[in-house]
Amino acid sequence: MLLERGDIANSWRHERWDSLRLLTPNWQTRLPGFHYDGPDPDGYMTMGEVVEFIDRFAAFSRAPVRTRTAVTGVARDGDGYQVTTTNGEFRCRTLVIASGACNRPHVPAVHDAIPPFIRHVTPFDYRNPSQLPEGRVLVVGPSATGVQLAAEIHRSGRPVTLSVGEHVRLPRTYRGRDVLWWMDAAGVWDQRHDEVDDLTRARRLPSPQLVGTPERATLDLNALSDVGVELVGRLSAVRDGRALFSGGLRNTFSLADLKMERLLDTFDEWASTSGRALDVGPPERFPATRVPPSSRLQIDLTRGDYSTIVWATGYRPDYSWLQVPVVDEKGHLRHVGGVVESPGMYALGLPVLRRRKSTFIHGIEDDARDVTAHLVGFLGSAASTIS
Ligand SMILES: Cc1cc2nc3c(=O)[nH]c(=O)nc-3n(C[C@H](O)[C@H](O)[C@H](O)COP(=O)(O)OP(=O)(O)OC[C@H]3O[C@@H](n4cnc5c(N)ncnc54)[C@H](O)[C@@H]3O)c2cc1C
Repeated sequence: MLLERGDIANSWRHERWDSLRLLTPNWQTRLPGFHYDGPDPDGYMTMGEVVEFIDRFAAFSRAPVRTRTAVTGVARDGDGYQVTTTNGEFRCRTLVIASGACNRPHVPAVHDAIPPFIRHVTPFDYRNPSQLPEGRVLVVGPSATGVQLAAEIHRSGRPVTLSVGEHVRLPRTYRGRDVLWWMDAAGVWDQRHDEVDDLTRARRLPSPQLVGTPERATLDLNALSDVGVELVGRLSAVRDGRALFSGGLRNTFSLADLKMERLLDTFDEWASTSGRALDVGPPERFPATRVPPSSRLQIDLTRGDYSTIVWATGYRPDYSWLQVPVVDEKGHLRHVGGVVESPGMYALGLPVLRRRKSTFIHGIEDDARDVTAHLVGFLGSAASTIS
């Protein structure tokens, strides 16, 4: 039984902004036994198209979904779990937590010190720039959400300042192919959780600076500077109405550039060793991220020129309904490769759950197969213990 608090494809229907398209290309948008079959394999789906894709998959897979059924409690009960919902009580022997990694926006504590007349917007509230008051906008966070919203709000005519901390820089295309094609081909997406050097860090990595557009445009910090978005350092504190930014932009940029170069080296190496070098264009290297000649270290938010702060500072899962003690002090589920620290409890769809691709749509098939195999084994051994 599959319990969903809203509708099928709920997060794509209700928790995304209007202009969002997938950053993964259509050919990569696949679910078990089901893949994109439209005329534009290299394009990027709009939210309406994603909803239609998942609706069609639900019909194709005949998934036993009960919609409008929010899980409000899960407690250990004998050799299974008692599940309380808005639509009745259930008991189950095994339970898979697939409630998503991005249930709520994460807003840092400095938020409390922002002057009261400034409007706070999170990616869950934001739909399009027409909702925002006139005036300058401070976007905090330079990952996929932050760069996309900074670009869109800037296009609407509002001056935008983007506060930049650690980020993952990627070109949209490399040697003539989508950069995510390279991740796939070179085996980066398939890297397993038990092969990753620092798993905790890998699980906290921000999303790459990518956007899906028909032009396959790169949306890195140079592209944003070119159109006039102001870049400042990481927001470190707000004191007496002043937002204070760290001064290490040069280091932050160099680190992101270096990591991108290393990844491109991995792609080049794969192309030559796999004999595919002639199927792709020649190796490319991209200009370093330009450091602004003088980046502001503070902004006086009390002056009234900034009207809005957009918190593009990441997302968090929500396990407030889970009464089994399997969540750590940071709010993350304790699990090894999707096997949660409670008998018969599993997870899917979390960052680097079993592979680097685990939180992406195309990542679910391999993870689900592995986790299901463990679950079936658990039920089998439980049955043999009983008999
Ligand atoms: C802004 C954004 C852009 C993204 N872009 C891409 C992209 O381009 N390509 C890509 O592959 N991935 C992308 N992702 C990641 C994307 O979220 C996952 O690929 C995919 O949605 C994961 O599916 P899921 O079913 O694990 O989680 P979700 O889509 O979050 O689904 C979880 C479901 O559980 C339901 N739920 C939660 N709590 C309860 C409860 N207590 N009771 C009942 N139901 C509950 C929710 O309503 C939701 O429908 C993006 C994520 C975000 C936030």
